[in-house]
Amino acid sequence: MLDPGHGGIDTGTHGLDGELEKDIVLSFASEIRDRLEKSGKYRVLMTRSDDTFIALNDRVRFARSHGAALFVSIHADALPKKEGQAEGATVYTLSEHASDAEAARLADDENKADVIAGVDLTAEPDDVANILVDLAQRETKTFSLQFAHSSVKEFKTVARLHKRPLKSAGFVVLKAPDVPSVLIELGYMSNRGDLNHLVDAEWRGKTAAALAHAVDDFFAPRLAGAAAMGQRR
Ligand SMILES: [Zn+2]
Repeated sequence: MLDPGHGGIDTGTHGLDGELEKDIVLSFASEIRDRLEKSGKYRVLMTRSDDTFIALNDRVRFARSHGAALFVSIHADALPKKEGQAEGATVYTLSEHASDAEAARLADDENKADVIAGVDLTAEPDDVANILVDLAQRETKTFSLQFAHSSVKEFKTVARLHKRPLKSAGFVVLKAPDVPSVLIELGYMSNRGDLNHLVDAEWRGKTAAALAHAVDDFFAPRLAGAAAMGQRR
């Protein structure tokens, strides 16, 4: 499940020349979808494939109801001028305790989507009221970290990475207890170098190919296991 961040009334962050995060992440996610589909190995769904607002919890629910084996949320960050400069891609996994102040600030920003569109979260059913959830979550966490590591490894070959490329924070979209999930910030739209990459079709192609490799790395052991099971039958 690919999850291009934001959409509709929620534009996400802005680039130096007025580019919108919601547009950039949608083109990037579509690029990865096309690559993965071409391989013939995966069924790829997107939480949105046009400029539509989708509430954060609906994104999670959509992934779970389709039994997604992996959830990849795609975003791009921006730093306010007074906070100086930062560059490069960062891969996030879920944690209740953000790994640093910037991670906490970012999770707050990204989680604001539902506030922007006036979605009332108090009526959400408590999905997590299940004794099995804790066990499932531990396995999910391990898988999420595996995918985060291989994404960083693959990204290293084609893209600039943040000085600390693996982080964790409390992103709402990463909260499915049973779907391995990561959130990728492709780079900083407030940084000229990163922005030039983000709007460049060639860079997006290379980086999407790298991420498709990470997806292959992630699923290879599972697909091999499934094939072996098939033969034993
Ligand atoms: Zn975002």
